[in-house]
Amino acid sequence: MSNENKSIHEFDLELICEYYANVERQGPGSPEVTIKALSFIDNLTSESRIADIGCGTGGQTMVLAQHAPGKVTGVDLFPRFIDLFNANAHKHNLQDRVTGVIESMDNLSFQDEELDLIWSEGAIYNIGFERGLQEWRKFLKKDGYIAVTEVSWFTDERPAEINEFWEDAYPLIDTIPNKLAQMQKAGYVPVASFILPDDCWTEHFYAPQVAAQEAFLKQHAGNKAAEDFIANQRHETALYNKYKAYYGYVFYIGRKL
Ligand code: SAH
Repeated sequence: MSNENKSIHEFDLELICEYYANVERQGPGSPEVTIKALSFIDNLTSESRIADIGCGTGGQTMVLAQHAPGKVTGVDLFPRFIDLFNANAHKHNLQDRVTGVIESMDNLSFQDEELDLIWSEGAIYNIGFERGLQEWRKFLKKDGYIAVTEVSWFTDERPAEINEFWEDAYPLIDTIPNKLAQMQKAGYVPVASFILPDDCWTEHFYAPQVAAQEAFLKQHAGNKAAEDFIANQRHETALYNKYKAYYGYVFYIGRKL
């Protein structure tokens, strides 16, 4: 397998972490889309408990907390992201309502039926969409909501190049109707789903990485792993621009049955 087609998981985690710590978002999305997804959720009060799983440095969590009442716990595996997350909460004066903790999404310490809302942007793929929906369900109160973004196919058939790239990077990628059926099967009623607009990738995710990539390459001059990682990132961006008619991120919002 060429380096260009390596899955992100095959690179050194330290390097990936360092790279993503320098950009505001670690996945596609935008404040507008976070607010739109939130508009489908109607059960929140100042007593509500919200979890943002795979929160990264908290770009979307701060938007969420500014537009929803209640307390938000951000969860991420990487201590450096959680440090930046908590600094971010202070910067936005949200430290009384927003806290980041280090935990793995496959071993969460929430109580059964503790949460009113589970949020997760660009992160559930780490456990797998269906498994995440199933395992996290017990933490939700009855009628609690889940809102996650997940990469999805827009068409039943795709050009081989992009099909192979994603089947290798994330074999659980599937079409929107199939993802919705998985949500239903996991014990939620699908309340809404919508495709994230193109600017969530281009303007909010890929554009800020251009400068970060230059700086990263300078800092790691001569480091083959770092160079391969950046080549991989650039390849992924080029593929998105070429094949964006065939796939994208989708927000899936469900209510626990
Ligand atoms: N929600 C953020 C980050 C998305 S990137 C955003 O939209 O910008 C995916 C995040 O999942 C990263 O921050 C990564 O550190 C985190 N992650 C990966 N594996 C994880 C795990 N097992 N448990 C918790 N978080 C994990």
